[in-house]
Amino acid sequence: MASPEESGDSVEPVIDLKSDQFFMGEALREAQKAYLQEEVPVGAVIVHEERIIARAFNQVETLKDATAHAEMIALTQAQSALGDWRLSDCQLYVSKEPCPMCAGAIIHCRIQRVIFGCRDEKGGAAGGFINLLQQDTLNHCAEITPDILGEESAQLLRTFFEEARTKRKDRDLARGQDLGDFSYGSN
Ligand SMILES: [Zn+2]
Repeated sequence: MASPEESGDSVEPVIDLKSDQFFMGEALREAQKAYLQEEVPVGAVIVHEERIIARAFNQVETLKDATAHAEMIALTQAQSALGDWRLSDCQLYVSKEPCPMCAGAIIHCRIQRVIFGCRDEKGGAAGGFINLLQQDTLNHCAEITPDILGEESAQLLRTFFEEARTKRKDRDLARGQDLGDFSYGSN
C-alpha cells in the first residue's frame, strides 16, 4: 500500500491526528477478525511510545467469557508486555466507546488516553451515558478522543447486527417448521 510520507514543507500539526487514524485503523483490523469469528466486532490496540504493544478483539462467544471484551484482553497483554500493571504512558485505541467494565479496568491500569471510534449512547462509559474515565473522586483520569474512524466502526457493527438478526429469523423459522409451526406466532 502506498503511503504518502512526504508532505512537502507543510507544518506538522500539534496533534497528530494521522497517527490516531493509523492506530484506529489497526483497531478496526482487529474488529474485522472478531466479525469473521461471528463475535460482536470490536477491536482494540494499545500503544506505548508510538509502538503497538497489544492488539485484541472481542472474544466473548469464543471464550464463553462475558469479560472477554477487546479492551480487557488488550490491557492484560499490555501489562505483560511492559511487566507492570501501570500503563500510564499508554494510549488505548478501541473501535467502539468502552463499556463501564472496560472503563473501570482502564482507570485501574491508569491508561493515559482513550481514543475510540463510534459512540455508544446507551452503554458507553466515556461520555455516552456516563463518563467513568473522568471522575474527580477517582485517583486517575484518562483523556478522551472520540470519533476517530467512527463511521467505519459503526458500519461494521450495523452490518454485524443486521446479519445476526437475519440469521436468527432464519433459525426461528426453521425451528418453527420443525415443530410443525404450532409455536410460531402464538404469542
Ligand atoms: Zn467493555
